[in-house]
Amino acid sequence: MSNKLILVLNCGSSSLKGAVLDNDSGEVLLSCLAEKLNLPDAFITFKANGEKHTTSLAEHPDHTGAVEALMVELRAHGLDSKIGAIGHRVVSGGELYSESIVVDDDVIAGIEKCIPLAPLHNPAHLLGLRAAIDIFKGLPNVVVFDTAFHQTMPEHAYTYAVPHELYTKYGLRRYGAHGTSYRFVADETARFLGEDKQSLRMVIAHLGNGASIAAVSEGKCQDTSMGLTPLEGLVMGTRSGDIDPSVFSFLAQNANMNITQITDMLNKKSGLLGISGLSNDCRTIEEEAGKGHKGAQLALEIFAYRLAKYVASMSVASGGIDALVFTGGIGENSNLIRSKVIGYLGFLGLTEDAKANEDARFGNAGVITTAESKVKAVVIPTNEELMIAHDTARLTGL
Ligand code: ADP
Repeated sequence: MSNKLILVLNCGSSSLKGAVLDNDSGEVLLSCLAEKLNLPDAFITFKANGEKHTTSLAEHPDHTGAVEALMVELRAHGLDSKIGAIGHRVVSGGELYSESIVVDDDVIAGIEKCIPLAPLHNPAHLLGLRAAIDIFKGLPNVVVFDTAFHQTMPEHAYTYAVPHELYTKYGLRRYGAHGTSYRFVADETARFLGEDKQSLRMVIAHLGNGASIAAVSEGKCQDTSMGLTPLEGLVMGTRSGDIDPSVFSFLAQNANMNITQITDMLNKKSGLLGISGLSNDCRTIEEEAGKGHKGAQLALEIFAYRLAKYVASMSVASGGIDALVFTGGIGENSNLIRSKVIGYLGFLGLTEDAKANEDARFGNAGVITTAESKVKAVVIPTNEELMIAHDTARLTGL
C-alpha cells in the first residue's frame, strides 16, 4: 500500500461522491455518497471494509456538511492523516484547460469562467472544492476536467457549421465529455492488447446512462460525439442524441412547447426511456425486449444501429480502426448491444466471437472478436476515480 492515499471527490448539485484510493494498487479503502444535499433530509452513506452505514446531514445539509461528515468518518477509520492530496472531477474546463492542474486562485477563477458551459455542474464542483480546501487544511487539491482530453481535436472536428462569430464571441463549439474515462481506457486498451498507443487507431464507446464515442489515434482524441453539451451524439438512457434542430420550431408551432420544455424533453424523457415508454435502464429494456415488448425491442435496435453508424463515422476521424472498445455500464456488461453493433459493422471486417463476448462481463476485459476479424472489438472496464487519483498523485509528487 502506498503511504499516502488520494481522496477523490465528484460533486453534483445535490450529491457528493467520494472515494479514498491507494494510488498504487487502485484499492478503494472507503467510499461515500451524500444525497439530497440542500434539502432538510440530506444524508450520507459510507462504505468501508464491506460495511455500509448512513448518517443524517440534517444539521448541515450542504456540500460543506458532507465534507465535514466525511472527515469525521475518515478519523474514525484512522485514514485522515494518511491522505496526501485531493482530486476533484470537474465537468467543464472549456478551452482553458487541456490537462489536469493543481488548484490555486487562478484555477478557481478559471472554473468560474467555464460556468456558462456547465451551468449545473461547475458551481457544484466549486462548492466541493471550497469545502475541501477549508476542511482538509494544507492538503493540495487537483482538478481533473471531463473536457480536457478532447482539447486535441482538430478545428474541423470541433467547429459547428454556424456563423463563426458564435464561436469567437460565445465559445459555441464541440467540447465533448467523458474525457477522463477515454484517457484511462485508451491507455488500458493499448496495455491489454500489447500495442503502442501512438500507433493504435481506436474508436472507444463509453456507454453508461450518458453515452458517447471518441476517435483516438496517435494517442490523442481526434473527435467525439458529445458537443457543446452532453445532449449531442448517441442515443442515451434519457437523452435523444442527434436530432434535427428544427424540432424546436416544429414542437413550438404544433405542440405548444417552449424552449425549456423541449430541452427538458430531449434531455430527460427521450432516448431508451422515450422510445420504449418503459425505462432508461438498459438491463430492464433487455429483459422486457426478451419478453416481446415491441417498444423495448425498438429501443435496443435504435441504440445499437445509431452506435454502429457512429463507429463508422469516427473511423474517419481516427484514419481507420484497429480496435473498437466498449466501456461504461452498458459497454462492459451488455453482450447483446455489443453483438448487435458488431453485426452492423460486418462490412468493416468485424466478426464476433460469441463465447468471448458472453464471457467479457461484470468487470472482465476481453477481446470479443474472432482471430480472423480484421478489426478487434475489446471490452475494457473504465475507472475514472483511479485516473483522477493517478493525476492527483503525479501533479502533487506523491
Ligand atoms: P453512469 O453513466 O450513471 O455512470 P453506468 O456506467 O453505471 O452509468 O451504466 C449504467 C447503465 O449500464 C444502465 O443502463 C444499466 O442498465 C446498464 N447495465 C449495467 N449492467 C448491465 C447488464 N448486465 N446488462 C445490460 N445493461 C447493464
